[in-house]
Amino acid sequence: MNSEYGGIGASELAIVMAIEELSRHCATTGLLLAVQQLGSTPVLLAGNEQQKRKYLPPLASGEWMAAFGLTEAGSGSDAAAMRTVAVREGDRYILNGSKRFITNGGLAQVNSIFALTDPKIGTRGISAFIVEKDFPGFSVGRIEDKMGIKGSQTAELIFTDCEVPAENLLGREGDGFKIAMMTLDRTRPGIGAQALGIAQGALDLAVSYSKQRVQFGRPIADNQGIQFMLADMATKIEASRLLVYNVAEMIDRGERDFSKYSAMAKMFASDAAMEVTNDAIQILGGYGYMKEYPAERMMRDAKITQIYEGTNQIQRLVIARDLLE
Ligand SMILES: Cc1cc2nc3c(=O)[nH]c(=O)nc-3n(C[C@H](O)[C@H](O)[C@H](O)COP(=O)(O)OP(=O)(O)OC[C@H]3O[C@@H](n4cnc5c(N)ncnc54)[C@H](O)[C@@H]3O)c2cc1C
Repeated sequence: MNSEYGGIGASELAIVMAIEELSRHCATTGLLLAVQQLGSTPVLLAGNEQQKRKYLPPLASGEWMAAFGLTEAGSGSDAAAMRTVAVREGDRYILNGSKRFITNGGLAQVNSIFALTDPKIGTRGISAFIVEKDFPGFSVGRIEDKMGIKGSQTAELIFTDCEVPAENLLGREGDGFKIAMMTLDRTRPGIGAQALGIAQGALDLAVSYSKQRVQFGRPIADNQGIQFMLADMATKIEASRLLVYNVAEMIDRGERDFSKYSAMAKMFASDAAMEVTNDAIQILGGYGYMKEYPAERMMRDAKITQIYEGTNQIQRLVIARDLLE
């Protein structure tokens, strides 16, 4: 985030490298950085000066956490099918509806929430709001019990006549869908980096284990069958890294047409992470299946990177749309 708002002015490349390195050891810790970026980016992209000065410094220092509320029970991949509404009444908006599967939900002070201000005109009727968790009518519903990233809270957010000051509208009415898509374009490299870190951690583990584990009187790493697996894992990781770093550098150079590359980086790195973590378990044999070793956690954590911030099917749609336009 910009140093004028209390950030360290890190480049996107530095951010993805930090997420990668943290995720190499703990994907939830990597996610803390990625979600702080996800929840703050709508304010950075569309906030006015007053909103930026109020909300960004405590987000940059880590005093406040951020969340991004787009998904609903009936609208996941089809984000435009959302039902949450925001009706203007004088100097405030009244929000009614709910958001599902929200990372940091209930913990975040600053929530970038998307709601319909005009349900009749599709995506052009979606607006974005900064909703503080203490605003009247804001509450937290179900806390999800998940397969992985168990250190990260995923919750339902409920808005019951939730009062949001009109000054907390981001951009203009109707800008919300554009803000959400622009945000995801910028944050998907972070999920690619999370996947990359998980995969690198799994490879590190598989390499060291294969050198120590002795079967048939020699380390299993002496078998070409294991060596070929390690070589394929390392190659997929390196290809992921190049895609993730490449799009981060495109963003740092101020290039505008990076949406396709962002989708490619997230999709490729997360598919690779799933394959690499699966292979790491195979190399550890029965021990890989046990909770005693982190390989099975890495596979469970890798899985989410294929799903959130747009499933990998949706990334393929983004890439294909760009190719065919
Ligand atoms: C742990 C976790 C954390 C999350 N954090 C957040 C968050 O912080 N903020 C937020 O807003 N959301 C968050 N999400 C929601 C996440 O982004 C959605 O789950 C995801 O976008 C998919 O939506 P869905 O689950 O409704 O699946 P669906 O949209 O119902 O998809 C089901 C399946 O159908 C496929 N599919 C759907 N449409 C198509 C199509 N047109 N072509 C081909 N295949 C298709 C999908 O790829 C998927 O395989 C989180 C989810 C999880 C699990």
